[in-house]
Amino acid sequence: MTEIGHFIDNARVAGTSGRMQPVWNPATGQSDSTVALATRDEVDRAVASAKAAWPAWSTMPALRRARILDRFKTILWDRADQLAEAISAEHGKTVDDARGEVMRGLEVVEFATGAPHLLKGEITENVGTGVDSHSLRQPLGVVAGITPFNFPAMVPMWMFPVALACGNCFVLKPSERDPSASLLIADWLFEAGLPRGVFNVVQGDKEAVDALLEHADVKAVSFVGSTPIARYIHEIGTRNGKRVQALGGAKNHMVILPDADLDMAVNALMGAAYGSAGERCMAISVAVPVTDKVADALIEKLVPKIEALKVGPASDPSSEMGPVVTQAAKDRIVGYIDKGEAEGARVVVDGRTFRAPQGYEGGYYVGPTLLDGVTPEMSVWQDEIFGPVLSVVRSGGYDEAVALIDRHAYANGVAMFTRDGDAARAFAQDIEVGMVGVNVPIPVPMAFHSFGGWKQSLFGDHHMHGMEGVRFYTRLKTITTRWPSGVRSDPEFVMPTMG
Ligand code: NAD
Repeated sequence: MTEIGHFIDNARVAGTSGRMQPVWNPATGQSDSTVALATRDEVDRAVASAKAAWPAWSTMPALRRARILDRFKTILWDRADQLAEAISAEHGKTVDDARGEVMRGLEVVEFATGAPHLLKGEITENVGTGVDSHSLRQPLGVVAGITPFNFPAMVPMWMFPVALACGNCFVLKPSERDPSASLLIADWLFEAGLPRGVFNVVQGDKEAVDALLEHADVKAVSFVGSTPIARYIHEIGTRNGKRVQALGGAKNHMVILPDADLDMAVNALMGAAYGSAGERCMAISVAVPVTDKVADALIEKLVPKIEALKVGPASDPSSEMGPVVTQAAKDRIVGYIDKGEAEGARVVVDGRTFRAPQGYEGGYYVGPTLLDGVTPEMSVWQDEIFGPVLSVVRSGGYDEAVALIDRHAYANGVAMFTRDGDAARAFAQDIEVGMVGVNVPIPVPMAFHSFGGWKQSLFGDHHMHGMEGVRFYTRLKTITTRWPSGVRSDPEFVMPTMG
């Protein structure tokens, strides 16, 4: 058994709490490692290390900070395969898919290497006669990131590259289900020249999270995970005076209008619904074909492709979809398919009957599933299933499709497939969802734009990375300056108007 510990004060350290949790290999259902669950004391040590590093790090020229991140980017690029394999072993996604997540994270590092430009302020000469004003953005101090299991490298990289580039020190609390990626990242950051204490990793569960939320020296918290926990993090974090951005769950719809390129839509749905076993916050979990004719044609084209999808362990390079993350996740997903069927949905392709390949019978496999005739009254529409289950909600028209989507509590991503520019433009403008794709199924914004949903998919005011990230991790200061001219005037007692 390997023990996976923390990274505090520039060193890998073993946990001291005595509390450990197994880390499973979802492909086999076996475990050969445990992860330490941090105590408050261990969180305190990580925060203290970050706090001690902050004065020097925050005043280091942004160009030098950027150069360290640039070296980290090169290491990441060279060792992407190693990181992808570590992710795959604990998460279960295919190695190619894991490599994709590393690349999307690396793009945020690339963005953050522009720190000197990103942090440039504004200046106005002569806001009053002989008076100038300039605004600048200063780092917050120690900031924390709390991240989910489904992207153990990419989601932390939505956060820390921008936070570090802006001059903050960072404490990461990764998901306890796939903790190893964060330690490789920490090793490589320090290899790239990051000073001691600037980046720390504490493994753990609610105890570590609560310690971060209540710690007086943690100035901001970035969170990504499920909606109930996101709401909790936002409530407790803001109550303790912290800046909080907390991204939650999702239920992403894809509208297919009658004039869409159906083959394009079908291929897009296959990847968006079943890629990474549907365990993506931007997965499409609801297809909304407009008119029954489109629905029937869509299902006819989807079924053979779903049935041909190769499910298996990541160690088999021909696998297109791996297992889900834990036995509990598998049970939850199967439970939803049962419930959908009981509520009246038609199970067109049934993933419950999937048989794991020989040697992998203990793995957490669920086959790709297609449900037709889903309605807004059903739990399979209302709840986030977070598995390889695609529901079809048939829609009579454009307005009905828009009303369906706007009725949902989640509003992370959405897509429309059409050839009609006017409909697409109206959709993009009107829909109450944070990220919209037009003939693009998973509209994840690039690193230099910002990622975030609306409604119960995000609590807080800032999306992640891009300029939103820079704003989240900095405080604005505005300085107004006048220099003595040698001409002394009498004191003034009325409010200055700068006229
Ligand atoms: P989760 O909410 O269970 O866990 C997220 C983090 O919160 C983990 O670090 C975990 O240790 C911690 N946590 C769990 N329970 C806690 C508690 N009671 N108190 C304090 N901390 C707690 O989420 P998950 O299962 O790891 O990830 C899947 C979820 O994340 C899905 O809902 C998915 O939609 C969401 N997600 C959202 C986005 C987005 O950008 N909106 C991106 C990725 C994942």
